[in-house]
Amino acid sequence: MQMIGTRASCALTRAVTARGASVLLALVIAGFALGARAYAQEPSNLGPLETVGDLGTAGLLAGLLVFALAALWNHHRTVRNTSGRVAALEAAIEARDDVIWSLEERLANANELVDAQGDLVLREDAEGRVTHASAAVCALLGKKAADIAGQPLAIRVIAQGERATLADGSISYDQEIETKEGPHWIAWKEAAVRDELGRIKELQRVGRDVTQRVAVERALADARTKAEAASRAKSRFLAVVSHEVRTPLNGILGMTGLLLDTPLSPEQRTYAQAVKTSGDALLALIEEILDFSKIEAGRLDLESVPFDLVALVTVVIELLALHAQEKGIEIAVDFDDRLARRVTGDAARLRQVLLNLAGNAVKFTDRGGVALVVEREDGDRVRFWVSDTGPGIGPEAQERVFKEFEQAGSPLARRHGGTGLGLAIASRIVERMGGQIELESSDTDGSNFTFVIELPAVYESALAPEAPDLGGQEILVASPSPVVGPLLVRRLNAWHAKVVIAPEAAVAKAILPERSWSAVLVDRAFGAQATAELARLAVEHAGRRYVLVAPSERAELEELRAAGFDGYFVKPVRAASLAARLTAQDAAPPLVPEAEAEADAATPAGGRLAVLVAEDNDINALLAQALLARLGHAPTVVSDGLSAVTAVATAHAIGAPYDLVLMDLHLPGVDGLEATRKIRALGADEGGDIPVIALTANAAGEYREACREAGMDGFVVKPIDRDRLQEAIAAAREARAAALGHAA
Ligand code: ADP
Repeated sequence: MQMIGTRASCALTRAVTARGASVLLALVIAGFALGARAYAQEPSNLGPLETVGDLGTAGLLAGLLVFALAALWNHHRTVRNTSGRVAALEAAIEARDDVIWSLEERLANANELVDAQGDLVLREDAEGRVTHASAAVCALLGKKAADIAGQPLAIRVIAQGERATLADGSISYDQEIETKEGPHWIAWKEAAVRDELGRIKELQRVGRDVTQRVAVERALADARTKAEAASRAKSRFLAVVSHEVRTPLNGILGMTGLLLDTPLSPEQRTYAQAVKTSGDALLALIEEILDFSKIEAGRLDLESVPFDLVALVTVVIELLALHAQEKGIEIAVDFDDRLARRVTGDAARLRQVLLNLAGNAVKFTDRGGVALVVEREDGDRVRFWVSDTGPGIGPEAQERVFKEFEQAGSPLARRHGGTGLGLAIASRIVERMGGQIELESSDTDGSNFTFVIELPAVYESALAPEAPDLGGQEILVASPSPVVGPLLVRRLNAWHAKVVIAPEAAVAKAILPERSWSAVLVDRAFGAQATAELARLAVEHAGRRYVLVAPSERAELEELRAAGFDGYFVKPVRAASLAARLTAQDAAPPLVPEAEAEADAATPAGGRLAVLVAEDNDINALLAQALLARLGHAPTVVSDGLSAVTAVATAHAIGAPYDLVLMDLHLPGVDGLEATRKIRALGADEGGDIPVIALTANAAGEYREACREAGMDGFVVKPIDRDRLQEAIAAAREARAAALGHAA
């Protein structure tokens, strides 16, 4: 406003001055004109002035006077105008001072604000001289603003973090710097300050003291590293302890097994059996703890190898059958005919899961039974069901039981012992396999565990042999068990038979005479008398009469035959046996014991084998020797890896080669893996193609892989059990034969 006023007054002054000059000029011209006119007129007209020259001079003087007056006037106007302009300029300067003062005040306010924030703000010019340092910078470095202004600021950097460029072009980094109070961590953000032309004028750093945050982060990282180290140490400790404990336990269990095979007084048998039971429980516990620690440490590696799914599940059921029958409950299994016979996956882990679920079911069920059903879903997905008629699990405990060391809390669980680790392990294994264990249960209805996993079929031709067709057969199934009868009906229906189920002996008796049955299946669980009665009645009404017995009831087979049965099935009934019997052409097959195919110790199925046992632990060596001798083989023991390699080569050279090597992995000097590699390096001409089976206390997947890589054909986990050894020997011989066949 002031500026505008000043400018207006100047313009006015200029206008007035210009007009004044014109007036003066007009006056001067008029003076001259008057003088000139008087000079031109007659002297007679002249008054007191007598001559023309006087008149002209007077006119000229008047003009000059007027001119001088005009000049004077003009000067006066100019002076007046100049002082007006000076006043205006003074006002403008004052106004600018006001603006500068107000800007300074704002700058001071802004600095105060920054200082109050406690941010470190540091500006440096192109030469690195400080142009501004906030109060926080001064306080942290213990310097006065005046002392650092205009000087390069030397800050000692103790540690430099990584620099990152942000989206707005600024750079951020953490820095540990030396301060008056010792080392501090500062998180800096650095940006260039540019002038109007975009040239870099200064460098500005804004920092926050993050010493506390860094300390917390460091403490957390430290704690995490320590926890990880502790967890690794714990896992290592557990692995070592479990290995060390398992080795003597092997001896105890193996020797007790051998002792139980000798003639013992009933009292001695009871004690020996108790030793075996406790040893088995201890071994299971050690394995669970080891497993869990491995899962916790994220070291659960799954294998992917082909295996026979039906055989695996059958083994699980048969393993548990003895315990179930001792408890007086039934255990039964049913397979979907569409299941691929050979599938790819981790057989050992699947067996572990099924053993846990079905083992729990047997453990907690006192009446009724346990059923395991395996069904094929779409594609390669396979569903497993483990159901029981036990006490069930209440809704509040259903989630909890899958957590480690959790039990449903009923007095029942405590009565049955256990660690509460089984389901936690099983559910994690199934999760690793891509599935999830689901539980349906109530307090009264028993439990029903199910999960679906992907088990790719090895190849299409590996599908189960075509299901038998029992179309046109009418079959009566008489069984009081809630699992045996229904599962048999399910199976026979799937094979197109017409099936009627009689859950009570009286019902069976009533139904039997109603028609002419192709076959009748009677469960010995009705009791000896009722079963025999049904057999007698069935002679007239059924083409084939089968009795279902528990292994312990085999002693009664003679009587049952006399009563009228012409065949029997040992529970749990195998689908293959059922199909073979019911599709047999022979209307009256002889009552041949079905599962009597026990190996004759003197002449084992595959012939007597010369087995080299490489084992440095005397007790384990003795156990392996005794078991092999029982199986009808001829063992020779060596106690280190190098001796094993030499023994294989020498025996081959003298024309009396070994048929098989059982190789402990932890041997002194050359260990089992190295010894196997050396044997394989001998080549076929020197006996290097002999089957080698690993003997180890460690069942972990990575060990299996290492064994396979070293050229081993099989794997037996200690404590060596007779059946497992027999299976491994058969499998290893088959594998080697197949490998040689491929090589040929
Ligand atoms: P453990 O059997 O060693 O106690 P698990 O983890 O296998 O540990 O099982 C946890 C708990 O879940 C058991 O203690 C029991 O209370 C309950 N449970 C598991 N399976 C069943 C079942 N089939 N019927 C009833 N309760 C069960």
